[in-house]
Amino acid sequence: MLESEDYQCPYCGEWVEALLDLSGGDQQYIEDCPVCCRPILFELRTDGESWQLQVRREDD
Ligand SMILES: [Zn+2]
Repeated sequence: MLESEDYQCPYCGEWVEALLDLSGGDQQYIEDCPVCCRPILFELRTDGESWQLQVRREDD
């Protein structure tokens, strides 16, 4: 199941929509910002229904 959530890029501050795959459970992954192309660290916590998304700079 895919959900979408808007997040703010920690580098350039642009709002971007992320697609979240809740079927995989808790996840940490890196995706490049589609605007500034810098690597964003995503931390997704989910029980398959509700979720919490945190985004951080990779170098934090
Ligand atoms: Zn960015």
